[in-house]
Amino acid sequence: MSEVFALGVDIGGTKVAAGLVDAQGQIVKRARVPMNATGDAESGLAAVIAGIRELMPSSAVSIRGIGICSPGPLDPRTGVVINPPNLPCWRNFPLAERVRSAYNVAVKVDNDANAAGLAEVLWGAARGYKNVFYATVGTGIGSGIILNGRILHGRTGAAGEAGHMGIDVHGPKCPCGKKGCIEVLASGPAIGRRARHKLASHPDSLLLQMADGDIQAVNGEVVSRAAQQGDAVAKEVIDETLELIAYWLGNVIDFQEPDVIVMGGGVSTMLAPYLESIRKRWIGSIVNPWPEQVPLLLARYGEEAGIAGAAALCE
Ligand SMILES: [Zn+2]
Repeated sequence: MSEVFALGVDIGGTKVAAGLVDAQGQIVKRARVPMNATGDAESGLAAVIAGIRELMPSSAVSIRGIGICSPGPLDPRTGVVINPPNLPCWRNFPLAERVRSAYNVAVKVDNDANAAGLAEVLWGAARGYKNVFYATVGTGIGSGIILNGRILHGRTGAAGEAGHMGIDVHGPKCPCGKKGCIEVLASGPAIGRRARHKLASHPDSLLLQMADGDIQAVNGEVVSRAAQQGDAVAKEVIDETLELIAYWLGNVIDFQEPDVIVMGGGVSTMLAPYLESIRKRWIGSIVNPWPEQVPLLLARYGEEAGIAGAAALCE
């Protein structure tokens, strides 16, 4: 019997990454093509088609569908990409319909955090759970809410943007325009920014040394390394980050009461040693009577969450 795969496509501002994904969520073959996000709509589509073509299976295998993660806003019901700031090439572009007509298979489109959350439910850390909050912490903070095994889309597909949940009305301005979103306080760049701010009054910190004296080079990764070596400023920055994330996830538990919270994204590996510490901070400080019953787990998928997530849309 021939094996059936899902084809996942992850569209970014500079590249299209695609993969063939088997029924256990393993990515068995990969392709990568450059994306010109500022060109015209048709050349943007051509990059997507080129990525898919590289993976189109031989006669021994078949695909059950094509899933695509694209920067939003987009409409997951129609597969129309509306007006993503990162993809100026597409304005009200019927992505799903165009790919469907090229390959004559089912095509699903969604945003990356929603899709990655679904992949964790089907094949990853949240397997066996039905109600899941997935957070991706990296250069930004994205999230996806899975209710009864399905992505919560809301009225138009724009639900689940908890990275822009405000936790400080007087906080710094987020790129989204709001003030004090968790993204602008606890993303990778935010961790670096808070560290640089503290360095003004602690110039003897290891942080500066580890960045070769260049304060602009102090980023989240440097903070993590300095904290491991016991630097007091770096430890303080990490501590604040845990506090912010715990406060935010505590809100999420009071709001959604998920069975599990899964964390992915570039900063999650840095936070991995502290997951229990984050949980301890929300235990006893939220309204939910069972805060200790909500696990906080590291995602299965790292950099390939977009490919796996896109493939999960086909299930
Ligand atoms: Zn925001």
